[in-house]
Amino acid sequence: MQTETTTRTPPLPSRLPAVGTTIFTVMSALAAERGAINLGQGFPDFDCDPTLVGHVHAAMSAGLNQYPPMAGVPALREAVAAKVARLYGRCYDPATEVTVTAGATQAILTAILCAVHPGDEVIVLEPCYDSYVPNVELAGGRVVRVPLTPRTFRPDFDRIAAALSPRTRMIVVNSPHNPSATVWTREEMQRLEALLAPTDVLVVSDEVYEHMVFDGGQHVSASSLPGLAARSFVVSSFGKTYHVTGWKVGTVVAPSPLTAEFRKVHQFNVFTVNTPVQHGLARHLADPRPYLELPAFYQRKRDLFLDGLRQTRLVPLHTQGSYFQLVDYSGVSDLPEAGFCQWLTREVGVAAIPLTAFYEGGLEQRLARLCFAKRDETLQAALERLQRL
Ligand code: PMP
Ligand code: GLN
Repeated sequence: MQTETTTRTPPLPSRLPAVGTTIFTVMSALAAERGAINLGQGFPDFDCDPTLVGHVHAAMSAGLNQYPPMAGVPALREAVAAKVARLYGRCYDPATEVTVTAGATQAILTAILCAVHPGDEVIVLEPCYDSYVPNVELAGGRVVRVPLTPRTFRPDFDRIAAALSPRTRMIVVNSPHNPSATVWTREEMQRLEALLAPTDVLVVSDEVYEHMVFDGGQHVSASSLPGLAARSFVVSSFGKTYHVTGWKVGTVVAPSPLTAEFRKVHQFNVFTVNTPVQHGLARHLADPRPYLELPAFYQRKRDLFLDGLRQTRLVPLHTQGSYFQLVDYSGVSDLPEAGFCQWLTREVGVAAIPLTAFYEGGLEQRLARLCFAKRDETLQAALERLQRL
C-alpha cells in the first residue's frame, strides 16, 4: 500500500502558550521603524573598551578557537573567583564552583532547569525580568508571584513568608533591580537569609547590575552572606559590566553540590561558551579599574538624565542602581502604559518600556522605564524631545 506524501506541518501544542515576542524586541523594532531614540531595551549605544577587543583579538590570533573546557576557561574562572573573594569575601573554588555561561539568561534558565522538578513552586517578586516566569514554566514548575511593595518596590517579607510552602523549591531575587532600579540593603538580604534558614529553598540571585550602585551605596551579594551563599546560584553578566551585551557571556557561582547539578544541564544545554571571548575577559578582569569605575561612570549619566527629566512633566522615581530610570507620566497622559510607550515612541520619538510588561496581568501604575546607558548626546536629544511634552 502506498502512503500519500504530505507537506503538512504537524500541529505543535505550545510549551509556552502565553508567550509572544518580548517587549524589548517589540519596542526596539518600533523605535527603528519610527526613527525614535531607543531608551527602551537596555543596552549601551557606546562602544566597549578597545583594550578588551584587543585581548579577544589576540586570543583568536593565537589560535584559541576550539572548544574550551565545559565549565569555562580556567583563567576566567580563577579571575571570577578572585574578584568575588575580593569584593564579597567568599572563596569559591574555580574548579567546582564557578561556571561560565552564555549570558545571564542561560545561567538563570540552567539554574532553574537543574533544580526545579515538575510541580515545585518557585517564588518570583513582581515586577520581575521577563525570562524568569517562562523559565519556571519550561521546567514544569509552578510560579508563585509575590508583589514588591507598590511605588517603593521594597521586598515585603511578610508576603514572601506567606508564599513559602512545603513545595517551594526556589526563590528568584534581583538586586540591583530591573526594572525598578532599587538596591536591596544588607538588612533586607539578612532578612531573606533568616527567612530561608529553616527551609531547603534554593535562591537564584540575579546580580547582573552588581557594579551599578550609586550615591555611595553598596551591592550586597548573596555570596557575602553565609546562609544565602550556601543555597544560592549567584548570576552575573559581562555584557552589563563591560558594555558588551551582544557577547552574551555570564557566570554562575554556587556551592559545589549545586554547581555539579548545574553543569549536568549546562553541558547538554550549551556545553561551553565562546573561547577567545573568555580568554579576553580573563585578561581584562586582571585590572579591577573598569568595574570599580563603573558606579561613577553611570552615576554621572543618571544625574545628567535626572537633571533633564526634572525639566519635563514626567516625574522620575529614585534610581539607586542599574541603568534604568522609572518615570511617572500621569501628569502627561491618561493612556495605559503600553499605549503611552507606543505613543511616546511614535509621536515623540523616544522609546520606553511599559512597567506592565514586568507583571502578570499588567498592573497599571502609569510608569515607564527609560534606559540611560547611552551617550550624553543621545540622552540630551531624548531630553529635548521629552521637554516638549
Ligand atoms: N537579568 C536581568 C535583570 C537583566 O536585566 C538581563 C539583561 N538582559 C539579564 C538577566 C540577561 O543578561 P544577559 O544579557 O547576560 O543574558
Ligand atoms: N535586559 C535588557 C532589558 O531589560 C534587554 C534584554 C533583552 O532584550 N532580552 O531591557
